[in-house]
This record gives sequence, C-alpha cells and structure tokens, in this order.
Amino acid sequence: MNKTGKKPNTLGLYLNFPFCPVKCHYCSFGSRLFHRETVDRYMAALKKEIRHYGEDPLYRERGVNTVYLGGGTPTLISDELPGLLDEIKTHFQVAPSVETTLEAYPSGMTDESFSLLKEGGFNRISFGVQSFFDGDLTFFNRDHTVQDVYQAFNQARQAGFKNISLDLIYGPPGQTLARWEENLTLALDLEPEHLSVYGLTLEDKTYFDYLKDHGRFIEADDGLQGEMYLAALRRLKSRGYEQYEVSNFARPGFECRHNLYYWTQGNFLGLGATASSYVEGTHFSNISSIDGYIRKMSEEGSAVEHSETLDPESRFKEALIFGLRKCSGITLSDFGPEYEDFLEKYRVKLKKLAGEGFLKNDHQDAFSLTDAGLLYSDHISMTLS
Ligand code: SF4
Repeated sequence: MNKTGKKPNTLGLYLNFPFCPVKCHYCSFGSRLFHRETVDRYMAALKKEIRHYGEDPLYRERGVNTVYLGGGTPTLISDELPGLLDEIKTHFQVAPSVETTLEAYPSGMTDESFSLLKEGGFNRISFGVQSFFDGDLTFFNRDHTVQDVYQAFNQARQAGFKNISLDLIYGPPGQTLARWEENLTLALDLEPEHLSVYGLTLEDKTYFDYLKDHGRFIEADDGLQGEMYLAALRRLKSRGYEQYEVSNFARPGFECRHNLYYWTQGNFLGLGATASSYVEGTHFSNISSIDGYIRKMSEEGSAVEHSETLDPESRFKEALIFGLRKCSGITLSDFGPEYEDFLEKYRVKLKKLAGEGFLKNDHQDAFSLTDAGLLYSDHISMTLS
C-alpha cells in the first residue's frame, strides 16, 4: 500500500445479487423479490460476466485481494455461493489471503449452510441486523426477528467465522436515545469484530417516502439523530472499537478491506446489475434493470451502460472527498506531482473547513474529520466538489 492508502495493481471484486425475501420499507435499492427462474437466468449472466472480465489481461493479471458478495440477499441461494467463488478463483488471480465477505440476512440459514459457506471459502459475514427490537424490525418490514439474529450469529460462530460484522440503523420514528443505547449494548454483547451504524434516511420511491407524502411518517429530529451517532462513537470506542470511517467501526485489524478500496481510489470491479467499477481513473457502471442486465449479457457480452474517465482535477477531488471519509484523513504532501497544480486551491478549501471546525489540521498538510465533520460529512463533500 502506498502513502495515500492506495493498493497498487490489485483489485477488489464486488458481486451484486439483487433479490430479497421482502422489500424493506426504507430501501431504495433496485432489488426485486426472489423468483427462482429469474434468479437462474441472472446467475448465468453473472457467471458470464465473471468469465468476460477474467479473460481480459487488464483484470486477469491483477491480484484480487477482496471479494464482496452483496445485494440484495445473496444468502437466499447460500448453497450456490461456494460455486460462484470457485468461478471467480478459476478466472482471476485470487490472493491466498483474500477477504471474502458475504452479506447475510439473519433468517433462513441453517448450521449446514454456514458450514458450507465457510468450507467454500467465505471468511467474513456481514449481517443486516438493523435493530435488536422486534417492533423496529416489523416497522422496517424485515423478514426476521431478534431471535433469528441470535441464532444466525451463533450458527456463524460455530461454523468458524471469526470476522463478523453487524449493521444497525438508528433514528426510526419514536426511538429514544436510551433505546438506541440499548441496541448498542445488545450488539456489543455479541462481540462482533465490526459494526456499521447508519441513520435512517428517507429515500425517494420507498414505502416510507410514500407514507411521508401521505402525512403518516414523522422523520426523526436531526438533533436527536446526531446525539445517537455521537453516543455510538463514544460507546464503541470505550469497548475497544476503532472508528475508521464515518459509519464503520472495527476491532484493530478487522477493518473491512474491501470498503477501503472505495475510500482510497483503489481499483474495484463491480459485477451484476447496477454494479459500479473504478479502474485506473475510469468509473463505469452496469445497467440497473435486472432484465436489462440479463439481456445485455446475453446479447452483447457486457452490461456496461455508462463510463466516465476522470480528468486529473476530478481524480484529485475524489481522492480528497473519499479519503476524508476515513478517520485517518488525508495528507496533501502524499499526493503525487501530477496533482501539483491543484494543491493550493484545495489547501485553501480544506483550511477553511478546518477554520469552521469541520476538520482537524494538526500538521501543515494533514486533515481529518472532527466530531462536527463526522456529523456533517456531506457538507465537506459539497464544499470540495
Ligand atoms: S435486504 Fe437490503 S436490498 Fe433487500 S430490500 Fe432490504 S435493504 Fe433493500
């Protein structure tokens, strides 16, 4: 890894499985309810896309350091996932120390499915828990209970998973600070290696958005959500978790290596409907429609719909914006001479954000988020854009 945290000549792979058992009421992601025949056609297209990139020397000759299988709910087809990983290993140079993450829904899994996943090469599980209160889960329209969470977590541990992450959502209507703190306590009692916390936001075209339009959804107060977030920071830190990104906390050594590709301008390749990629300064993304993806893969052998090569200033801006999401921040002098022309312009902007209290500027060229910066990270992105 170089000084900006970028991993040279390696690749992170993301695979999207956009099918779910039910639709969560806060979800704006283009997932669809599980339908066996469509899933079969989708998986055939996905394997074709793996082969398509695996045959291209630009990708085949890079070491794959991370594989992240998300969605959606890939655990709906957990028995088929080791085969998918084998397909990747056949067509890419997968590093022996690869991090292989699977996003898991905390229901519908058995002891045997977790064992098969472990034996099949997965070494990290990320559970979408969201809450340790059944009332919240019903409100979110999650298809699992808190009891299911405990069962799935224990099954994963017993199968040998030593790297488990939990996702939690704070700030649904009516949640008090005390109730959120209870959520954190219950999560910590399980001793996961990693936690992600997200404030509930109202996204367009979700069921919650529909309720709001009809006056039946009262958004959480911004101030209360901020208190909940800061409470999480304090609580998790006091229990030995390091915050390494705005929403992510880990025991030392358990940071999600895959997500670090996104924040360090590392090269990552996204496969599947909607998936986006970034390779050597070019962003490209696949068609978002599932049917469109299957059709494009079948007829054209590629599902890319949009591509954009960044000019040097845009590249630099992205490096700053994503780099500042990491709690370690950025150091301007770590950037290469190709960015020399822009340094002063952005140094002024960064100093201004520091003067406003959003950034720490402990050394001449080193900037990182303050608590205010963590709370208003979108403001920082906008200022630098
Ligand atoms: S499981 Fe994830 S992708 Fe599926 S509906 Fe819920 S939030 Fe959306």
